[in-house]
Amino acid sequence: MDNDPSSDSLPCGVVSFLDDGRVIFANAPLCLWLGVARADLIGRHVESMLAVGSRIFYQTHLFPLLRLRGAANEMFVLLRAADGTDIGALLNAVRHARDGRWVTDCVVIRVEERAKFEGALIRARKDAEDARALADEANQAKSVFLTMMSHELRTPLNAIGGYAQLLEMGIHGPMTEAQSDALAKITRSQRHLLRLINELLNLARIESGQVHYAVETVVLRSVVDAVMPLIEPQLDARHVRHAVDVPHDLAARADREKVQQILLNLLANANKFTSADGLVSVDAAPGRDRPDIVYLRVRDTGTGIPHDRLEHIFEPFVQVDTDPYRRAEGTGLGLAISRDLARGMGGDLRVRSEMGVGSSFTVTLPRQQA
Ligand code: ADP
Repeated sequence: MDNDPSSDSLPCGVVSFLDDGRVIFANAPLCLWLGVARADLIGRHVESMLAVGSRIFYQTHLFPLLRLRGAANEMFVLLRAADGTDIGALLNAVRHARDGRWVTDCVVIRVEERAKFEGALIRARKDAEDARALADEANQAKSVFLTMMSHELRTPLNAIGGYAQLLEMGIHGPMTEAQSDALAKITRSQRHLLRLINELLNLARIESGQVHYAVETVVLRSVVDAVMPLIEPQLDARHVRHAVDVPHDLAARADREKVQQILLNLLANANKFTSADGLVSVDAAPGRDRPDIVYLRVRDTGTGIPHDRLEHIFEPFVQVDTDPYRRAEGTGLGLAISRDLARGMGGDLRVRSEMGVGSSFTVTLPRQQA
């Protein structure tokens, strides 16, 4: 396929790449969608044409599947065009030996309407139960890999932090202001990386089923009272008002620490995305139609989240584009972890939001009857 010019007139995208990800062929329609000249695409990693989430999907699912089965069908991916727009597409791929090397040939079909690709995705899911089992295996392997890598990465990162601290303390002599500034930036980045890695490790543990839930009776008010003091200084510093309306007699069957972790995550987000004089409130209630569950809710009067991003924010590494400064603050893992934890306790985490009005995150948990 990589020397067949007639594929330029096909009504679909065609791309071929090697096992190391290097693109060796792309047809004209694909280049057009991506807004990239063919010559620029050749030799680049195939991941460079994917949006972040799809890159991870490629690494953890698609490529392992190709290795295991030699083919992958009806995979939904988001292509990332040169101008930053995402293009939903379905792809079929086959991996085979050609000219003494492994080549994967893909046919890519654009899916213009969300409903269409969601329908296709559901069908593909149903049809591909066995493929999913394999993907799960690959996912398991990914979790093990992440756990190992996280450990490996943490050691040098801790060393960077430690040595930066020695410099800061003046152990190696006084520092100029410019040097201190640079050091502060190094330390900030080091902390950010460390947090990212710790969260990755958390996620890997949850995904590989290594998390143990110590389920007990948890009085929601006691969780809120334990967590609020941790976040209040940050809310106060940013002049964000806060209110708690949680009855003292409402309890869940849950793991106390995990509920605290979820609540802290939600409050930290609420604080991050709410401006001065905004309001962050926590309340809780039994399910109105479902007396067997309880709701614990964190609301803010912050920026809000665009409707079409609402489900995506629970995916790992997803951050809604706000200003670049904010983006750097988080890792995009907090909500993914929080929802996994809530589900691990037989509950869930849901969001409602309106741009410019605010957001509301609700944790549901099994209720402990008094
Ligand atoms: P992060 O570490 O980036 O905060 P999260 O998984 O906690 O990661 O959140 C993912 C994204 O969801 C955030 O980057 C932000 O875009 C959006 N988000 C989460 N909570 C809120 C909120 N309360 N208000 C507005 N946007 C939010």
